[in-house]
Amino acid sequence: MKNKSLIFKITVWFSAAVIIISGAAVFVTLAISRAVLQRDIRENLIETIENNSDEIEFYKEYNRLEFDDPYDLYIEYKDGYLEIDDDFVRSVNGIETALFDNDGLIYGDSSNIAKDKELPFENKRVSPVKTDSGVFYVYDITLNVKDLDSPLWLRGTVSAKSSISQVNTITKAVLLLIPLLVAFAIIGGHLIAKRALSPIIDIKNAADDIRGGNDLSKRIEIGEGSDEVHSMADSFNAMFERLEDSFNKEQQLTSDISHELRTPVSVISAQCQLALNNEASADEYVEALELVERQSQKMSRVINEMLTFSRIERGAGNISKEMIDLSQCVSSVCEDMALIKDKNITLLSSIEPDIFIWGNYELLTRLLINLISNAYRYGKENGRIEISLKSLDNSIVLSVKDDGIGIDKSSIGKIWDRFYRADPSRSDGSTGLGLAFVREIAQIHGAEARVESQKGIGSCFSIIFKSSVL
Ligand code: ATP
Ligand code: MG
Repeated sequence: MKNKSLIFKITVWFSAAVIIISGAAVFVTLAISRAVLQRDIRENLIETIENNSDEIEFYKEYNRLEFDDPYDLYIEYKDGYLEIDDDFVRSVNGIETALFDNDGLIYGDSSNIAKDKELPFENKRVSPVKTDSGVFYVYDITLNVKDLDSPLWLRGTVSAKSSISQVNTITKAVLLLIPLLVAFAIIGGHLIAKRALSPIIDIKNAADDIRGGNDLSKRIEIGEGSDEVHSMADSFNAMFERLEDSFNKEQQLTSDISHELRTPVSVISAQCQLALNNEASADEYVEALELVERQSQKMSRVINEMLTFSRIERGAGNISKEMIDLSQCVSSVCEDMALIKDKNITLLSSIEPDIFIWGNYELLTRLLINLISNAYRYGKENGRIEISLKSLDNSIVLSVKDDGIGIDKSSIGKIWDRFYRADPSRSDGSTGLGLAFVREIAQIHGAEARVESQKGIGSCFSIIFKSSVL
């Protein structure tokens, strides 16, 4: 059973349950019908004998007999006559009636147990009597007839068999029906199990397809529904989506890193070749070594930044968050970064106090540092950077505005991409990961990162925290 399919197991359980329940139902029905039939037989017996008891009279003198009905019966008895009315029923529905006195049978069928003198008379009581030909019910009534000094007895008998034979007929019919019922239970159970499990088979097939075809973009499609199987399919699809996403990110990371490292590696390699193959002065060797050092530092920076980025990106769902004072966080970063004074740029800030959000302090600090660093790096001599934090109706807006070189329209859509630098000549020593970090951190906080920029005039980066996710 352990190795059998689920459909098989459900069919067996279902069929067993149907058979047990119907068996019990049949048993109870037969027991009840037997009891009801027996009760009917007894009641009929009592009724028939009671009716017959009214049909007997005794007359002492012959001339008092009425002879008004040609079908009435007259029997000479003791010193008079017994009149048995034609309504007296001797035999009906298996019930036999016979008339006795203390000496024996007076009138009636002598072929059944009614004639049995050994069986003592009991007034108005139905008693079962076992005989060679089966069980009989016997019912006696004593008749205290006028003018007779000793009592008469009316005895009715009926075989209990008639009820048994009816029950037997029902039993036979049921026994014939049981194989049909079993067949129906098995076929029905199999069809129900097959139907109920068909979405699971679909899920298995889809999972096999994904595994076999190595196509992570495939999803389980079992149509609309809200039962357990559909919610399982949804969970699987969500899992596949997450797997696909993380697989794609992994691939992207590998290709980005190798792409970014290729240039410094070739520069180092070319520089080494040049230095080794040609006679050079000590200064030239120093220059070559400095270049190699610069490139290797760049490589190290790319690798470190990339690993940090990937850690944040992958653990986005598990980043620990708490209620933080964003106003205090922004003020403290501004205070520190105002000291840079690179290119004689002035950093001004307008920060609304007591703005709290649910977030990660370190990541938000990093986001702000990246934006302000860009503002410095791509700012003009004697320029200014304006930082603002304010809460609006449904959002909190953090913006970093500069009056620097601005961004070309053709580049503006790409600046958030990893390793993208609009003007590599100006981005010496940069990795092109700063804004990718900014966007990722904003997403982790359910915020939107936007930019408005005009070439030669300046740029304004905004992070919009929606209050619904705060
Ligand atoms: P790093 O990883 O060191 O930050 P980066 O500054 O070059 O390197 P990003 O911060 O991602 O990389 O910025 C991407 C590009 O967007 C920059 O190379 C630059 O061309 C452009 N950019 C970003 N901020 C500004 C700005 N404030 N003004 C003008 N151009 C900008
Ligand atoms: Mg940057």
